[in-house]
Amino acid sequence: MDLQMNQLTVNYSKTEVIKDLNVQVKDGDFFTILGQSGSGKSTILKSIAGLHKSHSGEILLGGSSLTHIPAEERHIGYVFQKPLLFPHLTVYENIAFGPEVHGWKKDKIQRQIKKLVKLVKIEGLEDRMPSQLSGGQQQRVAIARSLVLDHKLLLMDEPFSSLDPSLREEMGQLVKDLQKQLNLTIIFVTHDVEEALTLSDKISFLTQGHILQSGTPKDMYNHPSTKDLAEFMGKANWLAGQIKENKFTSILGEVPTEVKPESSSTPYQLLRPHDLSIDLKGTDFIVKSSQRTGKETTTIVHKDNLELTITELKDQEYRTGTTVGVT
Ligand code: ADP
Ligand code: MG
Repeated sequence: MDLQMNQLTVNYSKTEVIKDLNVQVKDGDFFTILGQSGSGKSTILKSIAGLHKSHSGEILLGGSSLTHIPAEERHIGYVFQKPLLFPHLTVYENIAFGPEVHGWKKDKIQRQIKKLVKLVKIEGLEDRMPSQLSGGQQQRVAIARSLVLDHKLLLMDEPFSSLDPSLREEMGQLVKDLQKQLNLTIIFVTHDVEEALTLSDKISFLTQGHILQSGTPKDMYNHPSTKDLAEFMGKANWLAGQIKENKFTSILGEVPTEVKPESSSTPYQLLRPHDLSIDLKGTDFIVKSSQRTGKETTTIVHKDNLELTITELKDQEYRTGTTVGVT
């Protein structure tokens, strides 16, 4: 379902933490709010869910205002950083809790849970207590619980940040699969750039309660709107040059550009490590270090004051001190 926030402002007592926020999330999208700790990410999710209300502006779900709808009637799933399972209930009972409160019949609950435990891959664990599960398994139960009432909008607040990196990747993939199979709209919150770039259809970068930029992962990574955002989104190489007649010229040569020159400042080109490669026939640069990580090699080269970080999809390191070219 489409979700829209119009001029949303949220306060805690007198402090404004979200200012005039305008966001549109399309039906079926994986939408990520990316931002550092304290930027207001959780506050936005709480406002959507109806857990925190002091705001002006409007939130529309499927075109209807949520303002006067209590949290329990919004039909929105919510997954928190901690699984928050009932410790004295089994996995099955934890997932069944919501439907029981809503008066679902026993066999309908059974069918629904059978489907969900399969989807989140916890079949066979139904009778365990939460304390007998790993962190990842507990979070799978929490996801099943958030979906058991057939909600189509799912809010996820840094759901994997306490899991180790390989498990995080697996859980991310799980959520992408669930999104497709159940036709979910997901609003995902994270401070982790990698996670945002891999999972999202669209990202909004939040800073101090307002959105600095929104776009596809590609837009955000390759065309960030400020230097700080460029640095936050990943390793950035800055190449000084000149702009003349729609061409940007630097020591690496010429590229076409639509940017107009400003007489007051030197233009820089942003180059990501994957945009560059090493040319063994060249001699302009000196290798400072070179390190293999999995299938890739990251090499740092320098020439006078300029240092470039280059990541190539190759299984070969360069010796420190070697002279090379860069393309
Ligand atoms: P994030 O999730 O991005 O880390 P939060 O939405 O939790 O950020 O917090 C945004 C700002 O609001 C922070 O400055 C935080 O200190 C403040 N804040 C969060 N919750 C409360 C609260 N219950 N009362 C007062 N201030 C709060
Ligand atoms: Mg938070």
